[in-house]
Amino acid sequence: MPEQPLYGAIEAGGTKFVCMVARGPGECLAETRIPTTSPEVTLTAVMEFFDAQTGQHGKLSGIGVASFGPVDLRGQSATYGRILATPKPHWSYTDLVTPLRERFGCRVAIDTDVNAAALAEARLGAGQGCGTLVYVTVGTGIGGGIFTAGHTHKGRLHPELGHLRVLRHPDDNSFAGICPFHGDCLEGLASGAAIMARYGQSLDALSPDHPAFAHVAYYLGQLTSTLILSLAPDRILLGGGVMQQQGLFPLLRETAAQLLNGYAGLGEPDWLEHNVIAPALGQEAGLTGALLLLMD
Ligand code: ZN
Repeated sequence: MPEQPLYGAIEAGGTKFVCMVARGPGECLAETRIPTTSPEVTLTAVMEFFDAQTGQHGKLSGIGVASFGPVDLRGQSATYGRILATPKPHWSYTDLVTPLRERFGCRVAIDTDVNAAALAEARLGAGQGCGTLVYVTVGTGIGGGIFTAGHTHKGRLHPELGHLRVLRHPDDNSFAGICPFHGDCLEGLASGAAIMARYGQSLDALSPDHPAFAHVAYYLGQLTSTLILSLAPDRILLGGGVMQQQGLFPLLRETAAQLLNGYAGLGEPDWLEHNVIAPALGQEAGLTGALLLLMD
């Protein structure tokens, strides 16, 4: 019987690169975590991991990369597979694809970490059966991926849902927001880093009646309403560290329902309760998605 193909997967994050070799989802042979320092040091360690694994298990059929953004995903572009200009020191214009392809002589597929997570949730997690699924992570930053018509959505760049503008909460007008590009965009107001800057603590350290909950939920409710109106998704998954505060869900659904105001049957409380929910795959979503990029 021929041996099953061997795949590599990388979740390239701002603090660590998680690397895996697997025969398929749930069939991991080895996994490692490499700190994100300089591109040279980090990518050398990534290569060494896959070198050791291919020495043991044989040639890779492909490597899937789920990367932090912004990253060039346009197949015909001269900078395809490169991180674009980023405030993250040393990483601007780093090529994540060519070195892997040359070293391992295999196909390399790349997408954003959140698009990959959307793909994984659509195939194996809380988005199964959805034709259009949005995956949003609300952590240190805010990012979103879109799965639709069987694929992740990519265009001139890729979705940048964290930088959507939002209306200020009526009682929240003094804080300027922390986004270096936009100030009080969604990420500038509702991300974990914004919450720390604004309140000096994370949500889990604040009491549930602290105004921070109402503010953050108000902004995430606007995101939810905007996504419903713009993408007509079957489901919206909200994960990440900030969303571990389960009390945010009822509040943000309420904001979304108020904003939609019954229009066209959108924003019904019952629909929101069942379809604006937490993801199912947890920390594994990005890495699993990287693997699924190869199997599509
Ligand atoms: Zn922004």
